[in-house]
Amino acid sequence: MVAMAGDLNIRMIAVESPGDFRVDVNVYLIGRRDWILVDSAYGLNQSISKILGEINRYAGGVRNLKLVLNTHAHPDHFPGSTVLKEKYGVPIAIHEYAAPLLGDFKKYVEKYTILRGKDADIFVKEYLTGMCGARETNIDVPVKDGDVIEVSGYEFRVIHTPGHSPCHVCLYQPDEGILFSGDTVLKGMSTWIGVPDGDVLLYLDSLERLKKLDISVIYPAHGPIIMEPKEIIEENRQKKLSRMKDILEHLKEGPKTVKQLVNELYKSKIWRQKIWMGSVVKAYLIALEKLGRVRRIPRENLPSLYELI
Ligand SMILES: [Zn+2]
Ligand SMILES: [Zn+2]
Repeated sequence: MVAMAGDLNIRMIAVESPGDFRVDVNVYLIGRRDWILVDSAYGLNQSISKILGEINRYAGGVRNLKLVLNTHAHPDHFPGSTVLKEKYGVPIAIHEYAAPLLGDFKKYVEKYTILRGKDADIFVKEYLTGMCGARETNIDVPVKDGDVIEVSGYEFRVIHTPGHSPCHVCLYQPDEGILFSGDTVLKGMSTWIGVPDGDVLLYLDSLERLKKLDISVIYPAHGPIIMEPKEIIEENRQKKLSRMKDILEHLKEGPKTVKQLVNELYKSKIWRQKIWMGSVVKAYLIALEKLGRVRRIPRENLPSLYELI
């Protein structure tokens, strides 16, 4: 679809996920005389040809694409840019935290996953480069909070919104009230926050900051375009607060391990999903520890217990 903001064109490119991840990604092509992409999805042939097709149709070819800004360094968001850079020399922007890590996937795995040693190597080979099509690359434009990116005479402000990941940025156009929210604000689905890179308290702070902006429309990286920004930002905030309350409620029965809490909170019988949910529960427990509501009891050769304070 094409949306018009003043005389700026915003084209949403829905890129399907490979295999059975079921994580479709919205890539946005923005501009008029010159163009940028916000996020770039996967680096696979099928995703790249879809993106290039749209660039050819609406932006007059890849030579008019001056930059790809990735909202963050998760594997469903940046790999496409590494291929566009390799093939066509398109410069890449990403938050300065992630910039050096995209040139060194060994370091990337240390920061973004709990995998180590052989498991980390398998993640890079089979998942990051294999299934998602990422290539190690040097970042041309490391960005930080307050930076401005100019597109066809419009100034877009970079807003650092850590929480979903430490490197997450949103892109805001104040005159038109447009926000590209990446994974920070989603509608009809929950923003993933798990260890090691997720931080529930930082996420809540980021939503508070976004709430203060004058926004008329949000373009998220997954799911539908958001025409009721304030309500949905608040809904996203309430979801996390109510999950924290659920955990406190479950701990009223006595100290519990992460695994016990996962079994009580999530119905899934698939053990792999339960491992992922473990990192989510862990992120909530860390937040509750910081808030002084929960204490961790380490045990020798056994998983820690968490109890209410
Ligand atoms: Zn993400
Ligand atoms: Zn995502």
